[in-house]
Amino acid sequence: MKAMFELVRGLCITFFHLWTKAVTIQYPTQRREPPDRFRGSHRFVLNEENLEDCVACCLCARYCPSNAIKITASSDEKYQKRVLTYELDIKRCIFCGFCVEACPKDALKMSKDYELATFSPNLLYSKETLLSGPEIIRFK
Ligand code: SF4
Ligand code: SF4
Repeated sequence: MKAMFELVRGLCITFFHLWTKAVTIQYPTQRREPPDRFRGSHRFVLNEENLEDCVACCLCARYCPSNAIKITASSDEKYQKRVLTYELDIKRCIFCGFCVEACPKDALKMSKDYELATFSPNLLYSKETLLSGPEIIRFK
């Protein structure tokens, strides 16, 4: 008797949902806009001179729980410390956002880019990758 009741209840729910609006979307022709606090792939924020604000302090690398970031530094003509190479191993990344939180210059952000699948075996994001990509983040 209980099984019969559950069957009827299930059919009622199915029947009810026949008349409600579908929640599925036809990806990839339709895409949902991720929420504002979405943590997608990383990007350097470009300043007014279209350069990254990163001063190679290595705090992002230090706070990364996955040890996914490696940085080498140099100094520019004004003796300002600049990032020479930046390597983010995206396959180690757990998208926790600690690197963004730790950055004292707000130089690193997480974009809304979630389509990270690739056929390339190279999953190291370089400084150049973080300055380009489908979503460019401009100065604050
Ligand atoms: S999001 Fe987290 S795991 Fe990924 S690079 Fe930043 S600190 Fe490391
Ligand atoms: S991204 Fe931010 S925290 Fe990381 S090295 Fe550059 S300035 Fe420092």
